[in-house]
Amino acid sequence: MEKTLFEKIADGEIPADIVYQDPQCVAFRDISPVAPQHVLLVPRKPIPSLSDAGAEDAALLGHLMLTASLIAEQLGLSGQGYRVVANTGVAAGQTVPHLHFHILGGRTLEWPPG
Ligand code: 5GP
Repeated sequence: MEKTLFEKIADGEIPADIVYQDPQCVAFRDISPVAPQHVLLVPRKPIPSLSDAGAEDAALLGHLMLTASLIAEQLGLSGQGYRVVANTGVAAGQTVPHLHFHILGGRTLEWPPG
């Protein structure tokens, strides 16, 4: 199986501005940010989307959520608020078939998102 774009970034084969990494996941700045702070948090395991995660991924998903909170704190977003988003599938606008969470902040975020 060919590596996904985000596996290549996680493995250091494609450069990215990495803000956090550990044995289970990597976080890096989005190449096309839509907010002053826009970081992508991806598991090293190439799960295509949230819909493809299974019961065996429960601990990993929990780790990702706690890590999103840690990164938001690291970016100075905890006090003002931030958003964590996983676009899942075509209708939601997912363009990279490797599970990822957008961490967005640094401005007021509208709701509904559109
Ligand atoms: P999606 O649309 O799948 O929810 O999010 C994919 C995100 O990946 C987009 O926000 C897009 O800007 C970002 N992206 C696509 N290619 C690259 C890349 O090569 N490097 C980085 N850092 N981000 C990328």
